[in-house]
Amino acid sequence: MYVDKAIGSSLETDVWIYAPEGSVLRSLPADQLAELFIVSNVYVHPFEDHEKFAEQGNIVGKPTLYVGENGDDKFAVGVARAKQHKCPRCWKYISVSEDSLCTPCDKVVASL
Ligand SMILES: [Zn+2]
Repeated sequence: MYVDKAIGSSLETDVWIYAPEGSVLRSLPADQLAELFIVSNVYVHPFEDHEKFAEQGNIVGKPTLYVGENGDDKFAVGVARAKQHKCPRCWKYISVSEDSLCTPCDKVVASL
């Protein structure tokens, strides 16, 4: 029951990652990161842009900064309320308009 609730609420969020150039996080596909984190969207930006997080809308809190032991390896992660609409099929907040299917679900339904 608790797990169901946690997953339900995590899909209502987008994760914003600010990673330095060369970081593996910059090279992973954003949709795979979203699957991994069980959130609707992951946006990956250059580390320097983490100061702009508050301007990007629907922000839940300040981004959390992580700095590695040597001081070079640093990144920031912010959580925001999902910007897009809930897909009635997969429940991810990745639909462009209310009550419409997201693009991946649209393709699945079209192929049935
Ligand atoms: Zn969908």
